[in-house]
Amino acid sequence: MSIKDFDITIGLEIHAELNTNTKVFCSCKNEFGAEPNTNVCPVCIGLPGALPVINRKAVELAVKAGLCMGCKISPLTIFERKNYFYPDLSKAYQISQLQKPLCLGGGITLDSGKFIRLNRIHLEEDAGKLTHVNSTVGSLIDYNRGGVPLIEIVTEPDITNAEDAVEFMMKLRSNLVFGGIAECRMEQGGMRCDVNLSVKPAGSKVLGTRTEMKNLNSFKMVGRAIDYEAKRQVEAIENGEKIIQQTRKWDDNKGKSFAMRNKEEANDYRYFPDPDILAIKVGNKLVSETKLGLPRLSEQRKNYYVTELKLPLYDAKILTSELFISNYFEEVLKQFDNAKIVSNWIMTEVLRKLKEKETNNLNDIILVSNLVQIIKMVEQKEITRLSAKELFEKVCFTKLDAKETAKTGGILTGISENEIIKIIDEALAANPRAVEDYKTEPDKVIKFFMGQVMRKTAGAAKVEVAMPILQKKLSEQK
Ligand SMILES: [Zn+2]
Repeated sequence: MSIKDFDITIGLEIHAELNTNTKVFCSCKNEFGAEPNTNVCPVCIGLPGALPVINRKAVELAVKAGLCMGCKISPLTIFERKNYFYPDLSKAYQISQLQKPLCLGGGITLDSGKFIRLNRIHLEEDAGKLTHVNSTVGSLIDYNRGGVPLIEIVTEPDITNAEDAVEFMMKLRSNLVFGGIAECRMEQGGMRCDVNLSVKPAGSKVLGTRTEMKNLNSFKMVGRAIDYEAKRQVEAIENGEKIIQQTRKWDDNKGKSFAMRNKEEANDYRYFPDPDILAIKVGNKLVSETKLGLPRLSEQRKNYYVTELKLPLYDAKILTSELFISNYFEEVLKQFDNAKIVSNWIMTEVLRKLKEKETNNLNDIILVSNLVQIIKMVEQKEITRLSAKELFEKVCFTKLDAKETAKTGGILTGISENEIIKIIDEALAANPRAVEDYKTEPDKVIKFFMGQVMRKTAGAAKVEVAMPILQKKLSEQK
């Protein structure tokens, strides 16, 4: 038997930190990178007597997330305490939702057409962050993250392989980012994924025992962890071992998962309604208003680029791969109305620079106004494609004005294509014998007329611009 003789069943639980200014139950700032334990108050660290007050914005964003994913929004939602003792949780319970989550159902369609159903999206608070230093110092705890609003997106066990899991996560992330719901900065822990995985003999109706791998914070890690864990479980079964329901830690450096603790069930957490927070009625008005205000998501933009802007699907996919790329593209398009030309510039020159300097604002690479100027100069034949690339390099990562730089850098000749055409026409008219000689000695004649053009423009005409015009005119002469 091999892994091919088994079915893999995967369910994901994804946590995403919401884009709010303040935390979910208090007015502490929700910001990444502040001095440890500076954004904390009695509410978010759970001092006795402190009373939580729900952040309306967090509820609205969670509703928005639900609507982006086609969920049903619960008209009434309650918060519960999930009790457990762990150093990252100062009050020994997390405010979460179990019985009546905010959003139910929904799902995401993969490129293959396969639909991955969601079980729910609920709202909860994040815990603090533990940093394990070494055995002498021990562990450090920063509660700044405690109380930051999270949505937990739980799928049905519809995923059957690592590729689909990664594609699902990418599409989910894209919806959250394009929806303005969460920034999903995975390297900062802004989006984390828990993988529930089990294997069973192919075709069997009975699910195998599952394990859970927690806090995977990159797409690559999710893919690697799934492949490893599926193989581990299959090998264990083939060796006659029993799979134990447990929480496992994925070590990306070692490429292995390790048992952490045996898995708790929901009733181990003794969930009960939080007596300090009232049930929330989510009115039809909020739902319909949020629905109306939904921004265009990546998928919609992609379709628009293909059907309306007539871009190839390949371009559309790349341009909508990140919100900041799509926004930049649309900004440039407002000032220069040819999608394919703009797309070519962004896909080749601008995105190449993105590899050199990571940023989520392409204006850091080249200002929209500068790219538009360069494109226009090329299209109006004021500069050649070659000089345009040279100019692009010069104004990249600077705020120099492209037009000024072209003038002072000698890239812009100041002589338009029309002027060059006029000069060529005059030269041809004034030298009929040379035109006649073109049939027998083309090279010599071309050289002669180029000399004329250069003399008349004091050397300012670009050979790349003048040459093709000259050749065309001469070959048309009979
Ligand atoms: Zn607080």
